[in-house]
Amino acid sequence: MSVLSESLSLHKTVREHYLSLASGTECQVTYVWIDEAGEKLQCKTRTLKKEPTGLRDIAEWDTVWLDCGTLIEVTLVPVKMFRDPFILDPNKLVLCEVVDSNCVPKGNIELNNRSKCAKVMEAVREFQPWFGMEQEYTLFGLDGRPFGWPPLVGFPAIANCAVGIDRVYGRDICICHYKACLYAGVRICGTNAEALASQWEFQVGPCEGIEMGDDLWMARYILHRVCEDFGVVASLDPKPIEVDVGTAGCHTNFSTKEMRSPGGLQYIKDAIRRLSKRHSQHLRVYDAHDGADNMSRLTSELTTSSYNKFSTAIASRAVSVRIPGHVSRMGCGYFEDRRPAANCDPYTVTRALVETCLLETPGKDDDVQ
Ligand code: ADP
Ligand code: MN
Ligand code: MN
Ligand code: MN
Repeated sequence: MSVLSESLSLHKTVREHYLSLASGTECQVTYVWIDEAGEKLQCKTRTLKKEPTGLRDIAEWDTVWLDCGTLIEVTLVPVKMFRDPFILDPNKLVLCEVVDSNCVPKGNIELNNRSKCAKVMEAVREFQPWFGMEQEYTLFGLDGRPFGWPPLVGFPAIANCAVGIDRVYGRDICICHYKACLYAGVRICGTNAEALASQWEFQVGPCEGIEMGDDLWMARYILHRVCEDFGVVASLDPKPIEVDVGTAGCHTNFSTKEMRSPGGLQYIKDAIRRLSKRHSQHLRVYDAHDGADNMSRLTSELTTSSYNKFSTAIASRAVSVRIPGHVSRMGCGYFEDRRPAANCDPYTVTRALVETCLLETPGKDDDVQ
């Protein structure tokens, strides 16, 4: 059995007493933001005199960021409010954008990727772009080994959607995260066990425009908090173990109003044609390290495609972009870009999809094929 966290040894029943204390009209609001590396989340909490009815009741707040070796003060600007599934109503979680408010005379400079995404989503509003992202993650113990794995060399059997205590480890986390997201108001739509034991997936969507990034980042925050309670670590590493099995992606499903309407398949095919011409550009923004993570993940093994070559097919999974079988049969719906890695920034991925498929006319020569 993997090493468990020290905080698990704290007395959880004692904690229940304090959490059940009657509160006054005050409300605890936890500000959540993406850190300076763009990959991890941070949070801090403060008291408001009464329950906020919306973002207008939640003031901006300052924090510090490490910028090229020096600490700079930055401002947290609330962008979406959720219910707090950990200390419950009326308390809130609020997702924030981080801005540098000291840039005179330029004004606020956004330090995450959200506002660039929001601007593009605003420009394509009439297309009604919907996204659904499938977040895969792997549970680890504090000893750095996949949670629950036998201490000796080798690993348990590989099976998607497996059932049975000898084949899946840590289902409690998947179940509790699902409930917590529903309570919070995150648009989570499903879960399943993944290829490796202790590897899981949840899906968020369909979400329109900027909501995709907002809800996925909050779903990730909730995942890390649930894992704290169970004493394990959720990793979004795209290649969590050395071998080419059990890599972790964040498949991104995309549609517009036209693709969802009768005859939409032609718009889906047109979007895929555009994507085929910009394979390398997309791979550069589909993980947290400018393509390096995907270079080791997309090996064409099992259900991954090639890093170097764009491919597409109907109802087949070893491709860059897949048209689901039911979409092909119906003649409309959505397509799935299977290239984004588990640690991608959903703001960047959804923005790239919209820019290539709906905005620009990609050139012919810029593919890596
Ligand atoms: P897979 O078969 O690839 O494992 P999943 O069931 O895990 O698919 O995920 C499907 C995803 O597609 C979900 O996130 C869902 O929200 C999303 N989705 C469903 N319909 C649409 C649509 N019309 N446009 C965009 N995304 C969609
Ligand atoms: Mn899936
Ligand atoms: Mn999956
Ligand atoms: Mn998928």
